[in-house]
Amino acid sequence: MRFCAKCGRDERSVPIIRHLCIDCYLELKGRDLFPRSITLTYCPSCGSYRVSGEWISSEDMGNDERVVMAYIIESGLKIPEEIVSADLEDLRVIRTDYGEAIDASVRISIGSSQYRITRRVGLHRERTLCPACHKIRGKGYEAIIQIRGLPFINERLLRTIEENLYKLPEALRNSIAEIEHLREGIDLKLVSRHAAQSIASIIRKEFGGRIIETEEGGTGRSMRTGKKPRLVISIRIPSIEEGSYIRINGQPYIVERVDEERITLINREGKKVTMTKSDIVKSWE
Ligand SMILES: [Zn+2]
Ligand SMILES: [Zn+2]
Repeated sequence: MRFCAKCGRDERSVPIIRHLCIDCYLELKGRDLFPRSITLTYCPSCGSYRVSGEWISSEDMGNDERVVMAYIIESGLKIPEEIVSADLEDLRVIRTDYGEAIDASVRISIGSSQYRITRRVGLHRERTLCPACHKIRGKGYEAIIQIRGLPFINERLLRTIEENLYKLPEALRNSIAEIEHLREGIDLKLVSRHAAQSIASIIRKEFGGRIIETEEGGTGRSMRTGKKPRLVISIRIPSIEEGSYIRINGQPYIVERVDEERITLINREGKKVTMTKSDIVKSWE
């Protein structure tokens, strides 16, 4: 006769998995059944998804990304052999302080009993041109947006920017061929110059800062090879945190307080100075 090592019930009253009854097992190990997080990779150009190494059109997935998520989560479940079956019954995409997540519910059958267990699974989205689209477009993206902080970018600002990218109108979102995360910020590669300019102005409107547009590769050899010049849009978003140390016109300051528009600074002599964000940004130009 097998007993649960935790609550002492035996296998006559409750199914046993690895020295634990199913209830204690789910309580202690339930988390381990689920993947911690999944990555949903899709092609921003044609909308297809990468599912276990293959690209599958959105249509084949019922035009519902949850079908793809369900598939990925199900194939990531770690089910001990005592459990006869485990089926993903329900999933809900939610927004947390740390980005997106999925609340996934799995129904498991063991012996003649069924249990439902719900756990949170992190969700990362990744845009990558699928091989077909990559072939068509080659390296033909028309514009790059470089999002940077002033003086530098912090984690919190990065996250807020990312969230804003997901909220872009679909046509704009789909024009993003690639999102590259760098230590100094985010690079977006866009298949359309026009979309790049629209996205840049949306970001500026939301976060302030300044935009500088330059052309890349429009002269010399690339001109002769017939490659179109690429538009490079640099957005510098003021990111001034309380307690941080900044330089303005060569003078060091400690940031004491950050309000909606005004910043209180303490200079080297310990005197308080108030400036507007735009004044500070101007002084950095
Ligand atoms: Zn137990
Ligand atoms: Zn594609």
